[in-house]
Amino acid sequence: MIYKQYKELIRRCEQCGTCTASCPTKEVSDFNIRKLVRHLQLEIHDDPEFLGKYPWLCTLCFRCKELCTEGLEIPRLVWALRELALEKGASPKEVSELLETVRSENSPYILKGREKTSRIKPPLSSSDDSKMLLFMGCTPSIKAPNIVSATADVLTRHGYSFKVLNEEPCCGEPLICLGLKEEAKDIAKNVVEAIKSAQVEQVIAPCSGCYNAFTRLYPEVLGVELSGVEVLHSSQFLEKNLEGLKLEVPMKVTYHDPCTLGRHAGVYDEPRKVLESNEGLTLVEMDRNREFSGCCGGGGGLPSLNQNMPLEIARNKLIKEVIPLEVDALVTSCPMCYLNFKYASKKNKIPLTIYDLSEVVALSSI
Ligand code: SF4
Ligand code: SF4
Repeated sequence: MIYKQYKELIRRCEQCGTCTASCPTKEVSDFNIRKLVRHLQLEIHDDPEFLGKYPWLCTLCFRCKELCTEGLEIPRLVWALRELALEKGASPKEVSELLETVRSENSPYILKGREKTSRIKPPLSSSDDSKMLLFMGCTPSIKAPNIVSATADVLTRHGYSFKVLNEEPCCGEPLICLGLKEEAKDIAKNVVEAIKSAQVEQVIAPCSGCYNAFTRLYPEVLGVELSGVEVLHSSQFLEKNLEGLKLEVPMKVTYHDPCTLGRHAGVYDEPRKVLESNEGLTLVEMDRNREFSGCCGGGGGLPSLNQNMPLEIARNKLIKEVIPLEVDALVTSCPMCYLNFKYASKKNKIPLTIYDLSEVVALSSI
């Protein structure tokens, strides 16, 4: 089946190894994307041991696709192999555990009965009449509530009212990454219904995973349309609405392009425009940026399957690309990148502040 569907992609690979050289996992594991393609070329990919391990070590960052000498969308094969592993019952046990958690908790995290809004301080002021929905996302609301607070603070300070869903569902993006398309499709349909019943015109997502799911993965992978509303990532909303920011305490920062927002969804300019409009802030770029940016290690569902690899990938990026710039802070606009860099800097005692873009704006005045 994979061979039939991706025949051209598999055939055209020249085994040059550029993809492996560009891969963030090569220094922290024995995963080798070129070899994975070779397994497919030789049709020896059915082995349960292979299927149960290698397709699950990729962050789906798509950097290899940008650099492939043949222009091949090689991570599609990783996705297809994940689906095959699921079909054959060869996927890691963490995948079915995650699915169970999403089903029982409405999020990939064990909430222990608490609502998503319970960690957000100060409590959100949700307005039933508003035409704007703040879709908080599981990772921001549960693991990084400061990102939701900062986004809500900026919206409120600038005169916008918004509503949140009473029982906000998971967008399903983690399941799509893990190849659980049918399960994700059911979730996506529920999400679309929940957003429709909120009767809003605009959805603001502080999570790049939710944004990518709503705008790309739902229609392209699941065949589910979220129509009739404008979906904006918070960085896009900030860029449209807030100019002339001023930081009281000047800062030199660099910006990390989240894979889901950059390479996947094409949003590169807006976060930079927000930062550059901020008087008192100096933005310096890493050598590898925009479509060639290095992954933080937190994508593709990898943190659910392997806790060390994402932190080691993040550590490598901080040490090799960020610290030499001598910046005060690293800014990103994805909660997974934010958390992964935060955990990695703490674990490795790297003295660097990590901000979500919304936090930088919340620190600024107009
Ligand atoms: S870069 Fe492209 S052609 Fe080269 S080995 Fe990787 S997939 Fe094959
Ligand atoms: S998508 Fe990223 S992690 Fe996966 S093989 Fe390509 S470069 Fe490596």
